[in-house]
Amino acid sequence: YAAKADHLGVAVYRPSLDTDAPGQLTLFGDLRRAIRDGGLVVHYQPRVALPGGRVLGVEALVRWQHPDRGLVPPAQFIPLAEQTGLIQPLTEVVLEQALAACRRWRDRGLQLTVSVNLSARSLLDGGLPHRIGELLGRHGLTADCLELEITESAAMKDPVRALEVLHRLRDLGLELSVDDYGTGHASLAYLTRLPVSTLKIDRSFVQTMELDASDRTIVRSTIDLAHSLGLHVVAEGVETRATWDELGMLGCDAAQGYWLARPLPETDLPACVAELQQRLVASRPA
Ligand code: C2E
Ligand code: MG
Ligand code: MG
Ligand code: MG
Repeated sequence: YAAKADHLGVAVYRPSLDTDAPGQLTLFGDLRRAIRDGGLVVHYQPRVALPGGRVLGVEALVRWQHPDRGLVPPAQFIPLAEQTGLIQPLTEVVLEQALAACRRWRDRGLQLTVSVNLSARSLLDGGLPHRIGELLGRHGLTADCLELEITESAAMKDPVRALEVLHRLRDLGLELSVDDYGTGHASLAYLTRLPVSTLKIDRSFVQTMELDASDRTIVRSTIDLAHSLGLHVVAEGVETRATWDELGMLGCDAAQGYWLARPLPETDLPACVAELQQRLVASRPA
């Protein structure tokens, strides 16, 4: 079982895995308990406007504070949650924590919006728009405080039902964005039929755009095409100053990445925002 535990991330992806195996059962039970008893923590990564450097909002990224394994990254348990029906309660926990954090930042004068990642399953959940409306109301937040990130493939799994849920979320007044753009198989033409306002270019293109001419071309043409379709563009995975500068020259609207800030606990956000202002706004050429 020790070997299985070492390969946690791989084991949970394999549908052929014997689900009666004690390792897997423990993991499922552990995750269910973590969701129920506050074992999930949400970190927040700033989204920064180009070229000015203003922090527009944050993306909520869940971690599992595991008693033995430490802080477990989402890639190691989101697939399990999706396969076992735990994704719905997990999403609720993330939404609840993210909106509570958003409320507390606003109370301190930090006008941040928060983006939450949705799984494919959530797009088929007809009750979601109503529950989100209630959550916003409970935290005294308007819909423009929340953005939801979906992936191309999620929207394409059951386009008719997904489109209906998306329209109802949009009708609430939420912003919707397409995450990891460029890794799926959806055409930009198809995506324009979704009620989304933002494209997030996948970090696999952005990270290498300084080294790889074709990645740079993909980033540049995606920005231009998205703009001509009336969409905002966010670049993910900005790891160097050079990439930040280049994206500014290409007219990209906003960026996220380790060079700007890593995902952080809620209470570190105010200092991080101040540091970014100092570093980017102050150093901006006149
Ligand atoms: P994502 O939504 O595309 O989130 C961006 C991921 O890239 C995050 O990884 C973030 O920490 C990482 N990242 C940000 N900047 C950089 C950078 O400059 N370089 C590199 N190498 N990586 C960077 P994380 O937090 O491990 O999340 C991975 C994925 O897990 C997310 O990808 C998202 O698809 C999923 N996820 C995270 N939280 C949730 C959640 O609450 N619900 C659902 N359904 N999925 C989630
Ligand atoms: Mg995302
Ligand atoms: Mg992404
Ligand atoms: Mg993603």
